[in-house]
Amino acid sequence: MYKNLINGEWVDGVRSSRNINPSDTRDVVGEYAQADASQARSAVDAAQAAFGAWSQSTPQQRFDVLDAAGNEIIARKAELGNLLAREEGKTLPEAIGEVGRAGAIFKFFAGEALRQAGDLLASVRPGVRVEVTREPIGVVGLITPWNFPIAIPAWKLAPALAFGNTVVLKPADLVPGSAWALADILHRAGLPKGVFNLVMGRGAEVGTVLLEDPRVAGISFTGSVATGQKVAAACLARMAKFQLEMGGKNPFVVLDDADLGVAVNCAINSGFFSTGQRCTASSRVIVTDGIYERFMAAMVERTNALKVDDARLAGTDIGPVVDEKQLAQDLEYIAIAQAEGATLAAGGRAQSHSSQGAPGYYLTPALFTDTTPGMRINREEVFGPVISVQRAKNYDEALALANDTPFGLASGIATTSLKHATHYKQHAQAGMVMVNLPTAGVDYHVPFGGRKGSSYGPREQGRHAAEFYTTVKTAYTQA
Ligand code: NAD
Repeated sequence: MYKNLINGEWVDGVRSSRNINPSDTRDVVGEYAQADASQARSAVDAAQAAFGAWSQSTPQQRFDVLDAAGNEIIARKAELGNLLAREEGKTLPEAIGEVGRAGAIFKFFAGEALRQAGDLLASVRPGVRVEVTREPIGVVGLITPWNFPIAIPAWKLAPALAFGNTVVLKPADLVPGSAWALADILHRAGLPKGVFNLVMGRGAEVGTVLLEDPRVAGISFTGSVATGQKVAAACLARMAKFQLEMGGKNPFVVLDDADLGVAVNCAINSGFFSTGQRCTASSRVIVTDGIYERFMAAMVERTNALKVDDARLAGTDIGPVVDEKQLAQDLEYIAIAQAEGATLAAGGRAQSHSSQGAPGYYLTPALFTDTTPGMRINREEVFGPVISVQRAKNYDEALALANDTPFGLASGIATTSLKHATHYKQHAQAGMVMVNLPTAGVDYHVPFGGRKGSSYGPREQGRHAAEFYTTVKTAYTQA
């Protein structure tokens, strides 16, 4: 039984949940404690009590803890990647890559703890100096989704701790293993008790405590739009700070002048890899007339050649869908698209077993053509290996289609035209724009986030993370 970490102690839950391997549903990754509301409040008590001392800790103390955690994560990336692939279902190389990224994030923010700077200005009044500094906001509640079980907790936790906040983390119910491993690493890395608390449990129970407790100064949330709206309403009601990263319906435009190989690689990678379960996945591919036939022929061939199998088998391109509920959602959208008149050009079939005969939630990647902007497949996030292709007459129409969405996380284009690439970077209505690169797959040291219905509040990651995890103080001194 893997327990919760509250005030430096490993604590039993009121019940437990079974972490199941989606590649082989007979395989139980472990039993994980589930906290209730009262235990979640104890975690907030602990974080509140620890805040005074941690907020005054030296940058060296914070550096040492975060750097040690980053080193251990990187040293154990094969083992932790195996755990991540086993509980979430992304392929082993993807999972190991995610763990490496989590380690790098801790090391980046270890450095940021040392690099915190302020401004010293002359006042407009004679003899007065003005100092502008940043301070931690207090206890922060971190609520994370299942699709990046270690990287998302890492990119919230590392800046929270680096800037002197104390933390209560509630990871996604489906994938507690990687978050537990992170808690174990941080616990041994020398954090004082109560600075970091892990409470695994139900969103509606444990999550609600974090949203409503007046001692929680800020909530950083990544997950669905529906839950994000609840987070926003609860935080606004008590004027807590909040930051939301939510869904996407990211476009990838392929222009006539694109390098065909680059365009196909980008579309396949960001549409289908990680089983399409990435907020930055390109689920809409918009192709101009002149390249359409060649591009589609290559896409159908590549899609049919992808190997869908156990996440941890060598040679697997696409692992299983995360669970039965998500698989049902994917299949429902595939049926809706067909009912609305889209053509299924490849894939879209559930498979009950791996090549080794293990029962799991397998789905061959689905490629739709003949789709129109109003179809639900082009408007709503599926969160599975499903690409819908739209045809455009020219660049202007392609750009308009790309922006025709309530979301705005990532937006990509394949082109060899400097003019179109430059125009697209300026006019794509998204927080992140990629030229000749997949929309999914970003650097860890630069801002991450979107606009429109995808995100709310300050950016995450890189130096911009300080916007959420600190508050600014302006001090005046008469010499
Ligand atoms: P979800 O909204 O169901 O759950 C996210 C987290 O919120 C979980 O920890 C859950 O337990 C918790 N939660 C649920 N109900 C709650 C409540 N009432 N109060 C407080 N917490 C509650 O999302 P999910 O299914 O885990 O993740 C998939 C979604 O996440 C997709 O929509 C995807 O696009 C999005 N996502 C976005 C980004 C991004 O950065 N934009 C990154 C990854 C995933």
